Amino acid sequence: ALVVRHRMRISSRWSKVAEMIKELEEKCATPNAKLKQIADAMTVEMHAGLASEGGSKLKMLISYVDNLPTGDEEGVYYALDLGGTNFRVLRVQLAGKSGIKSQEFTEVSIPPELMVGTSQALFDYIAAELAKFVADESDKFHLPSGRQRELGFTFSFPVMQLSVASGDLMRWTKGFSIDDMVGQDVVAELTQAMKRKGVDMRVSALVNDTVGTLAGGRYDNKDVAIAVILGTGSNAAYVERAQAIPKWHGSPPKSGEMVINMEWGNFRSSHLPLTEYDNTLDAESLNPSEQIFEKMISGMYLGELLRRVLYRMADEAALFGDTVPPKLKTPYVLRTPEMSAMHHDTSMDLRVVGNKLKDILEISNTSLKTRKVVVELCNIIATRGARLAAAGVLGILKKLGRDSGEAPETVIAMDGGLYEHYTEYSKCMEKTLHELVGDEVSKRIKLIHSNDGSGIGAALLAASHSQYLEVNES
Ligand code: BGC
Ligand code: MG
Repeated sequence: ALVVRHRMRISSRWSKVAEMIKELEEKCATPNAKLKQIADAMTVEMHAGLASEGGSKLKMLISYVDNLPTGDEEGVYYALDLGGTNFRVLRVQLAGKSGIKSQEFTEVSIPPELMVGTSQALFDYIAAELAKFVADESDKFHLPSGRQRELGFTFSFPVMQLSVASGDLMRWTKGFSIDDMVGQDVVAELTQAMKRKGVDMRVSALVNDTVGTLAGGRYDNKDVAIAVILGTGSNAAYVERAQAIPKWHGSPPKSGEMVINMEWGNFRSSHLPLTEYDNTLDAESLNPSEQIFEKMISGMYLGELLRRVLYRMADEAALFGDTVPPKLKTPYVLRTPEMSAMHHDTSMDLRVVGNKLKDILEISNTSLKTRKVVVELCNIIATRGARLAAAGVLGILKKLGRDSGEAPETVIAMDGGLYEHYTEYSKCMEKTLHELVGDEVSKRIKLIHSNDGSGIGAALLAASHSQYLEVNES
């Protein structure tokens, strides 16, 4: 009798698991028709955000970059790239038409406590690393005497630019939360910290990572018109006609164009397939009600969504046995790279999944059936994210009138760890975009991986906004 009861319990457990998977799948569904509605909503919000400041959840920020690199840039420039868990410092020697002659960089991780501390602590830390990097400068990077070093600062958060080299932080995203910084000019903060650390350098350009990626991408390929970051956070920038920006009251740029930083992470629409997992993740986040699109598609959150689903299945369907594994209760223990590793496990017995569950969540001796469930859940969550990202790109193509007819060649510069390393995700995103625009248009749309384009891009923009350029140079 005991044995029979046990067996029944197990079979009802699995049917509950199956039921929960089915329900999740339905709630996360993104049929093409829905993606098209989302893309349309994105286009509508783009118009609204361009019409007036605060006119939409999409901030559509003016970057003050009205000229992208031409390939004629020359000289030695620095760049600082801050926006995720690491920051990078680099220097490049630009040699006009012959391209980048040499470059050096260093990458430093940001101690977690500095992400939620004070502005001075964060910037002092960065400036100190910058000081070390400058001290290490080899001969070929020496500037003519009397010439000040110049830096392009990639700062990957929403900033209301005041000029190409200044701007106030609007709010933090991606796990940063330093209250005394909000509303402050990030270039002034960095400049003061550099002074304190004895670094003599001028910030010539302040750019979002999407804008840097667009600039870096354009340097390599003149058809680059859009840049998308899929990393810890997510965002896009593109080249807009100045005429199409009613909220721009400055003098019309000579080029007739302006790069717009969309801040698409903050997009929200009633068409988005939100689940209870999204809602609780949002409510318990550092920035509730903000960055809803980002929370569905980007690297900071995919693993956390998976954890929330697993927790619920452990609790309600005893997915891991009679008790809920305690580790599963810790927010953000399951990171997206680990989720990706499990999703990509091709071994017959799903060994990688087993090991991850054991190492990260301390769940040992999982059955193959259980591991298969985990992979299936990875797939549901990543697929939804990737398909939504594709819908976002379609929204931009629509705004530019490049989603149909005789659209010109459009190259999209892509970057970010999620895009780079989570192959199932990036493959799915590309496939979906292809489906959405159809075979014909698809031939004229290319996605390229712009590896660390944002850093190089910032250095290029520092060059084109150098204080040493002649005033009447265009
Ligand atoms: C920020 C954007 C940034 C994106 C990718 C988002 O959280 O708001 O400014 O471009 O992450 O790094
Ligand atoms: Mg980056």
